[in-house]
Amino acid sequence: MPAISGEQVALVRCNRYEPGEVRSALEEIFAFHGGIEAVVGSGKKVLLKPNLLSAVAPSKTVTTNPLIVKVVAEMIQEAGGKVFIGDSPGHDNQEKAHRICGLQEVIEATGAEPLYFSDPVYKQVEGYRLWEIPLAPELSRVDLVINLAKLKTHSFTGMTAAVKNVYGCVPGKHKARFHFEHPLPKDFSRLLLDVYYAVRPAFSIIDAVVAMEGAGPRNGRPRQVGLLMGGMNALALDVVAASVLGFQPEQVTTNAEARKLRLEGSDLESIIIKGKELEEVRLAGFDLGPVSKGRIGRLLALLPFARIRDFMTARRPYPRINPDLCSGCGVCQQSCPARAIEFCGSIPDIDYHGCIRCYCCQEFCGQGAVELSGSRSGN
Ligand code: SF4
Ligand code: SF4
Repeated sequence: MPAISGEQVALVRCNRYEPGEVRSALEEIFAFHGGIEAVVGSGKKVLLKPNLLSAVAPSKTVTTNPLIVKVVAEMIQEAGGKVFIGDSPGHDNQEKAHRICGLQEVIEATGAEPLYFSDPVYKQVEGYRLWEIPLAPELSRVDLVINLAKLKTHSFTGMTAAVKNVYGCVPGKHKARFHFEHPLPKDFSRLLLDVYYAVRPAFSIIDAVVAMEGAGPRNGRPRQVGLLMGGMNALALDVVAASVLGFQPEQVTTNAEARKLRLEGSDLESIIIKGKELEEVRLAGFDLGPVSKGRIGRLLALLPFARIRDFMTARRPYPRINPDLCSGCGVCQQSCPARAIEFCGSIPDIDYHGCIRCYCCQEFCGQGAVELSGSRSGN
């Protein structure tokens, strides 16, 4: 599958979700790429694809801040484009997610049309893991996609940003199926790259005004970063974003696989950074999360031999239910692709023989009750 060219990334300061400040930062990002007119073109139908993981309030930093979506929508409309907004949440229904994540207000204020993703159509590809990809049929209604990602830690891949955000174009249950069929991070990461290249967003923006650190992508803590980032190559954006947070770029498994495949945008040294210097904005003390932090996680990225790195990556922590936090809602059981969660009472029980350590349970537990630890007993 041919890579996406363009290895330029813009890093622009934006310290608050304030309309004027967001607009000015986004204008600067697009100006580095010839202006929004060069990206969108008059009369084009454009899908804005935010991160809509779950129906949670914007203050939780789980989803793309609605102000970013609103300002990009307005800019596209001013450039003569027609705006659509859509994503497939991991668990909640899309309408509810729009309402709670603040997107319904954006839809009403801008007149953008919501696209509710339905049963997929299969796109044939020559991918690194897949030969056909179930994609939302609504993608065929638009001329191009603009990818509006949120910067967060991720238990399975290390970090979620621009490349992983495109996975939301795979509707509902197929996302869980892929987790089950591709349980190793390196294989799943290649699959994510396949989906990214199949959708091929025309432009990607990462909302890192406030990012998420710790137990992302659902139960981490907000962390002020004060940046918006943008570029045509989502992979290059992710490599730079990882460096901003203090990862070695290859601690993020999609970056590592892309580097092995020598994809354009995967080598930090060859990326042209506009706006702020990387050294100027790199964070100190960002909590990289339960999988990536600690000595093993940091060493992983430095291991020279891919096979050793893959072996070490397979030795991932176990999910455990904290009964003090668990409400017994059952969302983890519904989201477990391996059907490894059962209820024998009010608290779920994990069958570790069946568990593939995909961490979907941790991702979708709204109580933060699924914790990751080095052993099944929690040590
Ligand atoms: S662990 Fe979380 S998702 Fe599972 S039942 Fe308890 S509260 Fe619900
Ligand atoms: S128990 Fe959790 S980590 Fe294990 S397979 Fe199920 S969802 Fe994935």
